[in-house]
Amino acid sequence: MIINKTFDTAIIGAGVAGSALLYTLARYTDIREVILFEKYEEPALLNSSPRANSQTLHIGDIETNYTLEKARTVKHNAAMIAHYITRFGYEERIGFRRDKMILAVGEEETARLEERYREFSELFPYYRRMEGDELREREPMLMEGREEKVLALGVEGEITTVDFQKLSESFIENALESGKNIQMHYNEEVTEIREADGLFEIVTPNSTYKARSVVANAGAYSLLFAQHLGYGKNLAILPIGGSFFFTTRKLLNSKVYTMQHPKLPFAAVHADPDITADWNTRFGPTAFALPKLERYRQAHIMDLLEAMDIGKDTLEVYYNLLKDSTIRNYIFRNFLDELPYVGKNVFVKDAKKIIPSMTADDLVFADGYGGMRPQIIDKNTHQLQMGEAKLTVGGAIFNMTPSPGASTSLAIAEKDARQICDFLGKRFDEAKHREEIVGE
Ligand SMILES: Cc1cc2nc3c(=O)[nH]c(=O)nc-3n(C[C@H](O)[C@H](O)[C@H](O)COP(=O)(O)OP(=O)(O)OC[C@H]3O[C@@H](n4cnc5c(N)ncnc54)[C@H](O)[C@@H]3O)c2cc1C
Repeated sequence: MIINKTFDTAIIGAGVAGSALLYTLARYTDIREVILFEKYEEPALLNSSPRANSQTLHIGDIETNYTLEKARTVKHNAAMIAHYITRFGYEERIGFRRDKMILAVGEEETARLEERYREFSELFPYYRRMEGDELREREPMLMEGREEKVLALGVEGEITTVDFQKLSESFIENALESGKNIQMHYNEEVTEIREADGLFEIVTPNSTYKARSVVANAGAYSLLFAQHLGYGKNLAILPIGGSFFFTTRKLLNSKVYTMQHPKLPFAAVHADPDITADWNTRFGPTAFALPKLERYRQAHIMDLLEAMDIGKDTLEVYYNLLKDSTIRNYIFRNFLDELPYVGKNVFVKDAKKIIPSMTADDLVFADGYGGMRPQIIDKNTHQLQMGEAKLTVGGAIFNMTPSPGASTSLAIAEKDARQICDFLGKRFDEAKHREEIVGE
């Protein structure tokens, strides 16, 4: 059945990215007719669920793989989430002020962190430089049985922990209160987007809908929609799974991140007090290639094969990754982490960097936790791209948002809302957006 009404914008996916866009369009533009499709019964059941991600607001201060320039951009972008949370009174429900730190272990890492402290202090003046005694007092388990030299840069009093699922729900609630015509279609999977007569047709098993603009915020599926329209043919997805381990009792008060190995593309081991488990300590995520598009649900096999697009160019990227012994060992260890019984005995070696006295008996595999990162491969450059990827063609936008996509979701939404306004000849309310979201 073809629905005769034409929407201004159709959004696909009610994860944090899709719901942030819905909110931004509803509150800061004069776009009136928006339809959102979500294939599951509620928002944010996949990567934006607090069970899928590490619940960290990545702002650039403890992410040692970021350059100063990247940290400056991420700070601006992620601060929008913190500002939204405080501005609308969502503290202790959606966003939490919990301590966090970046920990350097051994001579080489402490020297590197010392240098970073000097370079980044102007951007993050709130850093608290901590060594032995202070760390022992704040986080006794961090120091128990430790022999190597350590240095930490701590952060206090900032919003560091976010329930991105509740955040998504709040975006949708606020959008629905805007008085615009917003239609939420849950349990309705988009199977195809096509172009016809200058409009987009969004096909679902129920009906075909028409929209002047369309944004796919559907994880790896966004790339498939783009490719069916003939865009992004040079890209493929390497699906990287991430799992977690809980400790048998709460061992830490703060989020503790470790220094990034310069060669490794994924976040080094960290420990996070978990919102969903009464702030018990959760370690991870691991990182391993997994032939899936959703961590705990099966994708259609053809979608998976299409997204991975295994051919000469993608295989060359896999080969380049594997020929480096550091990356090879890392991938192999992460694969072992997933094996029953063996896993925690391997993982504990990494976890000991944070808690030296830890044994495998202190760890339990976090069943039902974990997500999938849709990492992008560029087949032209033969590179694995880190961070978000976006394809924009006039009124159609396709977003793939691996970490830290949840932290930067309002910034991604701003960019897309501006693009759609330009395309449709609509207005973006700069002053209201700056006052409520940017906060500068
Ligand atoms: C292990 C792990 C740890 C992470 N930790 C962090 C962290 O600490 N901080 C951080 O900022 N980021 C983190 N991330 C990244 C973050 O989780 C993602 O960037 C973010 O959740 C992506 O949001 P999204 O809305 O794009 O995707 P999703 O949350 O996956 O939402 C996509 C939505 O689209 C829907 N959908 C898909 N296809 C269709 C279709 N055909 N029709 C209708 N609906 C469809 C899905 O059902 C889903 O609801 C982590 C990721 C992983 C995997």
